[in-house]
Amino acid sequence: MNILVINAGSSSLKYQLLNPETQQVLAKGLCERIGIDGKFTYKPEGKEAIKEADVAMPTHNEAIKAVLDALVAPGNGVIGSMKEIDAVGHRVVHGGEKFAKSVLITEEVMAAIEECNPLAPLHNPANIIGIRACQELMPGTPMVAVFDTAFHQTMPAAAYMYALPYEYYEKDKVRRYGFHGTSHKYVTQRAAAMLGKPIEELKLISCHLGNGSSITAVDGGKSVDTTMGFTPLAGVPMGTRSGDLDAGILQYLMNKYGMGIDEMLNVLNKKSGVEGLSCVSSDFRDLEAAAAKGDEKAALAQKKFAYEVKKYVGAYAAAMGGVDAIIFTAGVGENDKAIRSMVCEGLEYMGVKLDAAANDVRGKEAVISAADSKAKVLLIPTNEELMIAIDTAALVK
Ligand code: ADP
Repeated sequence: MNILVINAGSSSLKYQLLNPETQQVLAKGLCERIGIDGKFTYKPEGKEAIKEADVAMPTHNEAIKAVLDALVAPGNGVIGSMKEIDAVGHRVVHGGEKFAKSVLITEEVMAAIEECNPLAPLHNPANIIGIRACQELMPGTPMVAVFDTAFHQTMPAAAYMYALPYEYYEKDKVRRYGFHGTSHKYVTQRAAAMLGKPIEELKLISCHLGNGSSITAVDGGKSVDTTMGFTPLAGVPMGTRSGDLDAGILQYLMNKYGMGIDEMLNVLNKKSGVEGLSCVSSDFRDLEAAAAKGDEKAALAQKKFAYEVKKYVGAYAAAMGGVDAIIFTAGVGENDKAIRSMVCEGLEYMGVKLDAAANDVRGKEAVISAADSKAKVLLIPTNEELMIAIDTAALVK
């Protein structure tokens, strides 16, 4: 079974054609600068990536048409015809409270996704445009929506409610939603497989540490709390996002510098996080290099990030009444042994003992805790495309 996975943004679109049963990726790539000057990248399995610039791509329709043409093209194509695409899985950022799992897309579902647009005004409209373009070009092919928020719909009210006047929840749906759900679901399922235990019996803390970061407590396979909130700005500091902060700071800075709320949020989303703190970069590789040369702010940014992640690990162990394994995933989690080590340092009282030699690893599934560590520490590369393809295949079978 071949599933085309589509992740549509406002001016870009990532795609992958894969078989969820064999996990074979037949081709993948991305369309960039849609509506501008169209850049197209296509990488068939086992061959070099093909890159084209100035591809006519005024809308997402032409971008998806370019993807489909490449997939069936003689020479570098990977399938004989479009009939060999059994279904399309679409990443959708926000499913609000309407979607607690992935769904087969119908007109009713499209209307419900549109109703979630105000909750993710930058992302959902782009996801919808991607779905519409595929529907036009592939009539009759089943489409599935996989939501970033769905996995977190199992959180109890005490975790998802903000202590605000209740009416803001009732009338305006202001609550914690959480994001990166597809990644947290994938790595926790892999963790259960690695530990050889049913997920229902495990208390797991999943640390998705990338450009955007979130930590999730997963008890018995269900998300019971997560650090991102109503928007992906909450939780730990990120590449350029501040993470949690005292809302009083907004009033103070806005008054002092005559900033409007949009300008303030631009600072919190794009100029804060480890980049803002270090004055160096949002990239952890740059922080590491600068810190090694004695840059104190870069070292502080690394420390601050690891400290906040560690605090949530402790908080979620408390929330679940223990932890069987801590998982590290995404760009930083999979590659940065120094950050992993800083997060785990001092957690011995919780039964967490990292093995320095085992931690000297990158980008592959590994147990990185010591043999006598009561709680295991796992490195698990995330694979959101595979999770989307698995969900999609299960729904269209
Ligand atoms: P996104 O949230 O954009 O999907 P990723 O999960 O791909 O992000 O993570 C990207 C981040 O991973 C980069 O900004 C960088 O900080 C970090 N990263 C990637 N490779 C390494 C590495 N070898 N060492 C440390 N950090 C790394």
